[in-house]
Amino acid sequence: MAPHSTSNPTPDPHATTLSYDFHPPAPKPESPHHSFLLHRSLLLPPDTVTHASGTTLTLSPTRTIIDACGGAAVSCIGHANDEVLAATIAQMRSVSYVHTGAYTTAAAESLASIILNKNPYDLEKALFVSSGSEAVDAAMKLARQYFFETGRPERRNFVARKQSYHGNTIGAMSLSSNLPRKVPYEPLLLTNVSHVSPAYAYQYQLAEESEEQYVARLAEELDGEFRRLGPESVIAFVAEPIVGATSGCVPAPAGYFRAVREICDRYGILLVLDEVMCGMGRSGSYFAFEQEGVVPDILTIGKGLGGGYAPIAGVLVSRKVVDRLRDGTGMFNHGQTYQAHPLSCASALAVQKIIKRDGLVARCRSMGQFLEGELREALEGRKHVGNIRGRGLFWAVEFVQNKETKRSFEPRLEFGHRVQKKAFDLGVAIYPGAGTVDGVRGDHVLIAPPYTITETELRKIVEVVREAYDVVERSTM
Ligand code: PLP
Repeated sequence: MAPHSTSNPTPDPHATTLSYDFHPPAPKPESPHHSFLLHRSLLLPPDTVTHASGTTLTLSPTRTIIDACGGAAVSCIGHANDEVLAATIAQMRSVSYVHTGAYTTAAAESLASIILNKNPYDLEKALFVSSGSEAVDAAMKLARQYFFETGRPERRNFVARKQSYHGNTIGAMSLSSNLPRKVPYEPLLLTNVSHVSPAYAYQYQLAEESEEQYVARLAEELDGEFRRLGPESVIAFVAEPIVGATSGCVPAPAGYFRAVREICDRYGILLVLDEVMCGMGRSGSYFAFEQEGVVPDILTIGKGLGGGYAPIAGVLVSRKVVDRLRDGTGMFNHGQTYQAHPLSCASALAVQKIIKRDGLVARCRSMGQFLEGELREALEGRKHVGNIRGRGLFWAVEFVQNKETKRSFEPRLEFGHRVQKKAFDLGVAIYPGAGTVDGVRGDHVLIAPPYTITETELRKIVEVVREAYDVVERSTM
């Protein structure tokens, strides 16, 4: 079912000056309340949530909606789970804080163990931090240290992909390609990062190309980029197995990651996979890489780790990298005040226990199949629904102005945002997103409900998304 396009040529990975056409929303004159918080938008303060329970959010004053995106694919077991609350409170009573430079806790050790014990992938150690961005920065440092330890300081470059998002800190943002978030800060970003094409078949696989040929073309480009930089200068290739926030739940074509792994291995370059959004069961396997037939040297995890109960993300490090550090300086000099915070670890441990005990990864797969069927039935034939894609309970609907050419809507039309807003008015929270296709903002909405979602709720979600889409289609001529 490979979709094809001839309209969007491969982006130039070597372009250095970023540009992006900004279209900020118009100020809302009847802005509902003043806020002292510096929200993302200074013009439109967000809605207040007064209560969150299971799959619902209660908004002030008395409106309840279905949370069909869990923030941005964060909430994986629903809100206000009693077992998680009890575990967090118990941890607060026992040890609420210690500094990880000097101490460890049972909560942090058990969390690392439940994720890593007997894993068949040679992932040996876990580092817990407070956000996905910090995890990505730590992964970059670990990858650099891997080469530093053996006196290879010439390894200084990272290669990542266009249409990717790895976080907001300077390091993670440098790897990212989310242009609206990046452009204003470009002088602060790292210059030793270059970007190759995304593995985004719907927009970039050519009409005359088979999936295999598309993968071969991408592999050749990556190989070419390593050779352009000098493979001996490259630390790592960094990619999301399923691209989340930027282009919306885009899995790679079959064989892509195997080809990537092979090229990295050829040059001794590390493979860092970022599963902050798609990991911990979200894709229908505990790690998304399990479906790709490859194992990363370093893996970042995040959102589904703590399920939103506490700010926690992590880095899982392979034996190969750990051995190099152990045999070298024996240190990873990366302490942060709230690293492996006991409350976060206790919350995340409770979440992971529930995922495992209740078979929620398998449920994610089966509910995902149900969701896919419902989405395709409701939306596939619609005029502006270009692509429905995803895995597990991680799905996106991409809207295009013209299904033949796959051209995006003009950004000022805010098609995806309007679908999201209408769905919200109708009682369902979905996540709006905007990739950039040839420098033009695209439109998609993302549906990533908790793994505990029911078929009835999924039916309702899809019904609302379809209704919201129809309203927006009618008003877009
Ligand atoms: N990596 C990926 C793939 C993400 O999707 C995100 C956030 O959306 C991050 C990293 C950054 O995580 P955080 O927002 O927790 O810093």
